[in-house]
Amino acid sequence: MKKLVFSLLIFGLLFNCKNAQESNGKLNIVTTTTMITDLVSNVGGDKINIQGLMGSGVDPHLYKASEGDVSKLANADIIFYGGLHLEGKLVEVFEKMGHQNIKTIAVSDALDESTLISSESFAGNYDPHIWFNIDYWIQITEYVARNLSKENPENKSFFQANSKTYIEKLQVLKEKLRATIETLPQDKRILVTAHDAFNYFGIAFDFEVVGLQGLSTATEAGVQDVQKLAAFIIDKQVKAIFVESSVPKRTIEALQAAVISKKHDVAIGGTLYSDALGNAGTLEGTYIGMFEYNVKTIVNALK
Ligand code: ZN
Repeated sequence: MKKLVFSLLIFGLLFNCKNAQESNGKLNIVTTTTMITDLVSNVGGDKINIQGLMGSGVDPHLYKASEGDVSKLANADIIFYGGLHLEGKLVEVFEKMGHQNIKTIAVSDALDESTLISSESFAGNYDPHIWFNIDYWIQITEYVARNLSKENPENKSFFQANSKTYIEKLQVLKEKLRATIETLPQDKRILVTAHDAFNYFGIAFDFEVVGLQGLSTATEAGVQDVQKLAAFIIDKQVKAIFVESSVPKRTIEALQAAVISKKHDVAIGGTLYSDALGNAGTLEGTYIGMFEYNVKTIVNALK
């Protein structure tokens, strides 16, 4: 299968017809996660053609390129992806694209390395869940606008204006979330979820964050991890734990069962959007809506 995908990839590249004329003068953009698709759409507006590879509920850590993705990628002017090994199974594909003069841009390159959280289990690697710090997302918005402008200078002022408008919305979002979170007492700010997606959120909004699985969902949680975390939940009297929309529910259900088996109670506080937004066309299908929904769900369940 892998071989077939790569052969198609090469075929697609040889015969690829990417040029701006064939797409009404608009750049062809391919993005990976729904968060990146949403950001780039906000900046590019109707001056770009955009195709997101991953939909709602899709786990980027485990995502593999399909044959359909290959032709989308081969026809792209720019590919925006998360980087920092977020799309662990797409790295080879991106490298190949890079060699074929297709611009591949990791949005994490917008950030200063010293501001990233380093991974405890993989030396030299960083936590890729950077969208949960709104200040970082603002920097990435500017970075995307700069890159679109470089590739398509005639629309530079359009991209810059969109970027400015979107950044203003992100700043309003940040203040709104802060006000909601302030209603939750400090000792109740403990967030237990399926995997380590919320470390940047925790730093930005002063939560202690624990994920059952590590930074990538590729490593399964063992029985010992479940028991350890169950003891933590009981010790800290955590009222609720959270499922993630892109991770199977059973991991969190196993944790809840472990707490209950020790004659304690913990609720499942709801489903959070961690590595993918909600369905397109809904409020949670946007970055801003997703963040508001997550914070409301967290605060209501932990109060
Ligand atoms: Zn993740």
